Amino acid sequence: MTGAAVHPLFSPWGRFGLYSYFIDAPEPAIVDTGIASSPAKGLIPALEALGRSIEEVRWILLTHGHIDHLGGAKALWELTGGKAKVVIHAADAPLLRSRQVHVEDYVNGRSRYLKDPGGAENQARTAQAVISGEMEPAVLLQGGETLSLGGDVTVSVHHVPGHTPGSVAYVLDGQDAVFTGDAVQIHGAANRFPGYTDPNAYRASLEYLRDEVRPQRLYLGHPYRGADGEPNGVELDRERARRALQESLDLEARIRNSMSDAGLQDGPEDVDSVYFPFARVAADLGYTSDPTLEPSPFFTTLDGYRTQLNLLS
Ligand SMILES: [Zn+2]
Repeated sequence: MTGAAVHPLFSPWGRFGLYSYFIDAPEPAIVDTGIASSPAKGLIPALEALGRSIEEVRWILLTHGHIDHLGGAKALWELTGGKAKVVIHAADAPLLRSRQVHVEDYVNGRSRYLKDPGGAENQARTAQAVISGEMEPAVLLQGGETLSLGGDVTVSVHHVPGHTPGSVAYVLDGQDAVFTGDAVQIHGAANRFPGYTDPNAYRASLEYLRDEVRPQRLYLGHPYRGADGEPNGVELDRERARRALQESLDLEARIRNSMSDAGLQDGPEDVDSVYFPFARVAADLGYTSDPTLEPSPFFTTLDGYRTQLNLLS
């Protein structure tokens, strides 16, 4: 097979660099859409710079349901004249269908730690502003599918839950170019902490990507930081992809060990810490960034361990 070129399409959002990817296939695809403003401000100019137009796009492949990946989906779909198929895993599809589900995820998860009485209202406001519209996907994934992008270009779908229940990796077959969205967190992006709701699934997905998928090129959703604290870039070659997967696994193991250690339960003197009830875990891991900055991966992730390790006291 000849292979399809891949072009990153950048759109900024506050502290975050959002990355979508254009797959130059007979039926062109865009992987992830940024937020509501990204198609107009980021994707269209970037496509025009390539001499291409948004009307050509026939596939909108979403790696997962977070606002900074699907916020632009409805707007992008409309810009294709409704000709593109929007694709997402069934487990994250509720996040495409409803802004309110994003608020519920916040309320049922990290909000418990944030001591922010206006948090739910802020989430609702953000979802309103940043998600361009609610919609039903054209294709609901389970994992294991092969999508034809025309000619001999195919993309296979691998379910890699952990960051979210419906995270997927799209693999451009024959060239083993792999789009993982946020499923490979290394040392986190702007918040400097890896974010995942299901630690066991995150670990299993990383091992699966390392041992079975074995990317020749790995395309990430954000410029994640490596173990040295420096951003890695978003397009990694085979060796750097292997290192990113291993560093992600190594940090997962460190966090797991910290959380497992019964000696790390916070005492009464820790109640006022912004890291409470994980002040001793933060100290053990050397985590000194603001844990309350949304999307608060520190609390999302540690709440996941708290549940899975039965530390609910
Ligand atoms: Zn995400």
